Amino acid sequence: MPEAVLDLVGVGFGPSNLAVALALDEAGPKAGCDALFLERQPAFGWHTGMLLDEATMQVSFLKDLVTMRNPASPHSYLCYLRDRGRLAAFINQKSLFPLRTEFHDYLAWCAERVGHLVRYGTQVVDIRPVPGPDGSVDLLDVVVHRDGAEEVHRTRNVVIAPGLQPWLPDGIERSDRVWHTSELLHRLPEFESVAPRSLTVVGAGQSAAEAVAHLHGRFPEAEVRAVFGRYGYSPADDSPFANQIFDPDAVDAYYVAPEHVRRRLDDYHRNTNYAVVDLELIQDLYARSYREQVRGTRPRLVMMNVSRLASLSQEADAVRVVVEHLPTGEPTEFETDAVVFGTGYRPADPLALLGPLADQLKLDDQSRPHLDRDYRLVTTDRIRAGIYLQGPTEHTHGLASTLLSVTAVRAGEILAAVTAAVPAQVLTASAR
Ligand SMILES: Cc1cc2nc3c(=O)[nH]c(=O)nc-3n(C[C@H](O)[C@H](O)[C@H](O)COP(=O)(O)OP(=O)(O)OC[C@H]3O[C@@H](n4cnc5c(N)ncnc54)[C@H](O)[C@@H]3O)c2cc1C
Repeated sequence: MPEAVLDLVGVGFGPSNLAVALALDEAGPKAGCDALFLERQPAFGWHTGMLLDEATMQVSFLKDLVTMRNPASPHSYLCYLRDRGRLAAFINQKSLFPLRTEFHDYLAWCAERVGHLVRYGTQVVDIRPVPGPDGSVDLLDVVVHRDGAEEVHRTRNVVIAPGLQPWLPDGIERSDRVWHTSELLHRLPEFESVAPRSLTVVGAGQSAAEAVAHLHGRFPEAEVRAVFGRYGYSPADDSPFANQIFDPDAVDAYYVAPEHVRRRLDDYHRNTNYAVVDLELIQDLYARSYREQVRGTRPRLVMMNVSRLASLSQEADAVRVVVEHLPTGEPTEFETDAVVFGTGYRPADPLALLGPLADQLKLDDQSRPHLDRDYRLVTTDRIRAGIYLQGPTEHTHGLASTLLSVTAVRAGEILAAVTAAVPAQVLTASAR
């Protein structure tokens, strides 16, 4: 049996729902919102397989989980720095972009502050409607698996923030020697004793380039091959005018834009985020490659550009790879100790958890859910409980959806919708 009815259940406790918890904490008891966040990981963790020592954030520290919504929040990056005794030292760096490991520590610091609102080790497996006497649905049952048992949390609203799923090309199976970049740091300690002679990274985005640089630095005896279809890594556009696409106002403009304008905006500004690399990292990799040419020794950093991975077969203690040069079709076959796929992520399917509720959603012609501006899924009139979504909303809210830039503001918008209780509960698809 479910416990008392909650006002809000958060599915997933990454930065998106953590930001909602922080907004709720700031609002205090007057918000009148009884909330619980459910996270499958045993403790807070943000992309832990890619917390490379040398990696920096690709977003300003001022786009932390609160400042854009409330610059006076006690949960800001500046408050975190003061708490850790590094405020002056951070300022002296004159950089807006913290180390990724430091940002992770900031997120974990935030998560600890609202720890009473979270249950870790809790996998949400289903969200079920609870029909009232007239068939309308004001409540939802969130079904979880925890410590091998099933639990149910009854709520008026859910906020689903499932994050991204690592993506591998069709036919590629993960193994001890075939990894996605998301597991890089978890794999390397056990691999250190192998003293690898050859490592291969597939992909040309930020994670792939970071993996190449990390492996090249960490294994000084190993040859590191980078396999990708482009001529070279392409730089991420983080110039100031283009960066405006990540402003909270840009979400308003995107939301009201007709479909063909949205697509055009995506095409213009895709290179702010997708399959692009920080220019500094590109220059660093090029400098390493050039130094090896000057030394005249066997190059350890091998760019297999304009190429594709044609086949991969796993052998007892190596992986046999064939790479095809795209212009000539010429194959190169070699053995490598491990292949790392930096082939990116796809948003998790938000409908997967909704079971029969998914039939009550309004979908577009590509089966993507319609959302209100406040991130509430548009449903039939029958469903009066609120189902909110963070992350897989690029088609309605634009390119910032899967990133941190609008997280603080979005969390405030969602919380305002949830706590505006009565209007939010009675609005229906047709009324909107
Ligand atoms: C290596 C890397 C670096 C990045 N760096 C940046 C950056 O510098 N700047 C930027 O703007 N963006 C960056 N991003 C983009 C990234 O998507 C966001 O930073 C952020 O993680 C989005 O937060 P989220 O909470 O929506 O998703 P996630 O961080 O993915 O969190 C989702 C959480 O939900 C949990 N979960 C999912 N399903 C369930 C379930 N059924 N039950 C219970 N729990 C569940 C997951 O375990 C996870 O903890 C980066 C991404 C990667 C992979």
